[in-house]
Amino acid sequence: MSAGRYAPSPTGQLHLGNLRTALLAWLFARSTDREVLLRIEDLDRVRSGAEAQQLIELQAMGLSWDAPPVRQSDRTGLYDQALALLDEQGLIYECYCSRKDIAEAASAPHPDPSLPPGAYPGTCRNLTETERSQRRTERPAALRIDAARAAGPAAGTGPVHEVTDLLHGPVSATVDDFVVRRNDGTYAYNLAVVVDDLHQGVDQVVRGDDLLTSTPRQDWLAQLWSRLSGLPGPATEYAHVPLVLNEEGQRLAKRDGSVTLEDLGVINDDAIDTERAHAVRAKLLESLGLPGDSLEAALEAFDPSALPREPWIFRGL
Ligand code: GLU
Repeated sequence: MSAGRYAPSPTGQLHLGNLRTALLAWLFARSTDREVLLRIEDLDRVRSGAEAQQLIELQAMGLSWDAPPVRQSDRTGLYDQALALLDEQGLIYECYCSRKDIAEAASAPHPDPSLPPGAYPGTCRNLTETERSQRRTERPAALRIDAARAAGPAAGTGPVHEVTDLLHGPVSATVDDFVVRRNDGTYAYNLAVVVDDLHQGVDQVVRGDDLLTSTPRQDWLAQLWSRLSGLPGPATEYAHVPLVLNEEGQRLAKRDGSVTLEDLGVINDDAIDTERAHAVRAKLLESLGLPGDSLEAALEAFDPSALPREPWIFRGL
């Protein structure tokens, strides 16, 4: 199976920027004969009722998917297995650093020049068992992947990994020892998303371009994990789509007002005003240079190479 997906986090109502990305994920998948899947990324920051609300919002845009939505909170067994497999290979280590420790290490006079900005400098990578027992009493451990060890180069030298994005071209980054499980026991986004995409047969990832910088490490982990698990590693197609900004040039957010379907009178007490829903969808499709009359017409006209590459500034409907 070949599939694309939309993977919202149920932190609140979707706004026009999220809905535009959802439309794009659907168009990319449908136009390449892929199934469309919906995955609820509810490992943290969940707002009660948001999942049900988001499903209605996506329906109001006329979007449909080819399998029942899955929820990450139902899939921790899969993440446990993935972590165990990595751990068996000696690729996981405990990290006791706080954000502050990491920021301080990064601003030290001689930071490791091979590391990208914000990368984890490897402070806890080579602690002795005695040091670990001591640190465990001070702070619960997060778990990190030893990227250099997994890739085989000299200790501490993270592998450079390149992906090609349909809209951004080649994107390359050094993979650092990123967190795979946080110190509150929650699986990290970068692990969950990779495991889910592989398990669900997702070979097309369409999402906002704010996530572009996470992509080399996710793709690297996907390849590593598919080698270890024997699950076929699809050659994933990536498209990181431009965001919607407010008039000040900041990422659209709920506080910008009149940006959710409820604000815009499309959804009232779970009932959808079809006419308004069409008008909002038309506006979103037209902002992508597509005909707004129907999803079918937009699909017919859809051409990734003609998509706008700049963010869309939302100035009201
Ligand atoms: N759940 C993420 C979000 O809502 C998207 C993750 C992804 O598409 O990989 O921002």
